[in-house]
Amino acid sequence: MHGFAYKNGSLHCEDVDLQSLADEHGTPLYVYSAGTLRDHYTRLDQAMAGVDHEVAYAVKANSNLSVLRLLAGLGAGFDIVSGGELFRVIKAGGDPAKCTFAGVGKTRGEIEYALRQGIYSFNVESEEELRFLNQVAGDLGLTAPAAVRVNPNVDAKTHKYISTGKSENKFGVDFELIEGLYARAAAELPHVKLRGLQMHIGSQLTSIQPFIEAVEKVTPLVLSLKEKHGIEFWSIGGGIGIVYHDSLAAGSVDWWDEKSEQERPLTLSQYGQALVPRLKDLGLKILLEPGRAIAGNAGVLLTRCLFEKKGTAKTFKIVDAGMNDLIRPALYEGHHEIVPVTEPGDTRVSVDVVGPICESGDFFCQNRELPDFQPGEGVALMSCGAYGFVMASNYNTRPLPAEILVDGATATVVRQRQTLDDLVAGEL
Ligand SMILES: *Cc1c(COP(=O)(O)O)cnc(C)c1O
Repeated sequence: MHGFAYKNGSLHCEDVDLQSLADEHGTPLYVYSAGTLRDHYTRLDQAMAGVDHEVAYAVKANSNLSVLRLLAGLGAGFDIVSGGELFRVIKAGGDPAKCTFAGVGKTRGEIEYALRQGIYSFNVESEEELRFLNQVAGDLGLTAPAAVRVNPNVDAKTHKYISTGKSENKFGVDFELIEGLYARAAAELPHVKLRGLQMHIGSQLTSIQPFIEAVEKVTPLVLSLKEKHGIEFWSIGGGIGIVYHDSLAAGSVDWWDEKSEQERPLTLSQYGQALVPRLKDLGLKILLEPGRAIAGNAGVLLTRCLFEKKGTAKTFKIVDAGMNDLIRPALYEGHHEIVPVTEPGDTRVSVDVVGPICESGDFFCQNRELPDFQPGEGVALMSCGAYGFVMASNYNTRPLPAEILVDGATATVVRQRQTLDDLVAGEL
């Protein structure tokens, strides 16, 4: 569910008309719903009631300071993947003691910064990294809290670029090698404290089965590590999928209620129902690392149609957002529902919606039946709250779009659109 819907013939975010935002702030424009962010966080938190747990929001999904501040205010922890993300969390008032630091390639500078800030755990992805962490912590006279990421070798059945839990992925340490690694670390690495175990099998999982499979497979391992090394937490990662295809309709509770159990996509409450019984008696603190499930359907990218170009083979709708603003279609074959800001009639046309960038991969859809819209009209790309703005670039020397956070009837610019001077700042 989310806060985007047509009201009086015009697409709104909560109580704010998106056309008026586009007119006032220009396009392309990212718009987020504070109510939706709160709702998703709270639903997941409540779904895990009965387990000692913490929701550590995956900052990389949407790292705007105002988004982080909102989540910090709800008590969230944060899963970070760089020193830069830790800096953002601290700027936003988040607590470093609730931060876990993931990623296969942390630098000395990043490790030192995170050690000095007192983060909760380094989630380590190789023995080499664990030894390096021990060395850096020793040099500073500190002890580094650490968890190793186990690769449970389960198939997340998601896009190959966002599947991370198979042996052939670069992530984590093979399941069979974990016990040996913890034993060596306990014996040989005095500046590391083994605090937990971590896993994350992939992103945009729309079935509960791979989560269950991974939890059941790793449970004996985590209990053994608790027994032998006194670990206190198990992070079961993120990866909960969202609805992309029927994104607009899925904003309303009716859409979910009308579906049978079999047809209904994975919900946060199903996730909790399946996992809580399997996790509640382990005597471990359970960390969750959701990114997309919190932010994905809490944002849209507003763009404007510039031209309609009719070729012999196709009709192209050229819009003012490009792959530099939203790269998911080009990078992951990501699907974003495309809807006119003014509520359309029933006419459907088969079109490619493309951006202005000089790349053939610069499209938002190809040969898709869409409600018709004309040059000058506003159009929303749905489900752009996660892995949207954070992956935007200045390719083709295009300024980064502005970001707006809507809360009820209030719209706040939470990041200004870049200016032409911003684009060359720092260059000789
Ligand atoms: C990206 C990532 C996440 C968040 O994934 P979502 O699919 O957005 O929930 C969580 N943990 C780790 C280690 C990640 O790399």
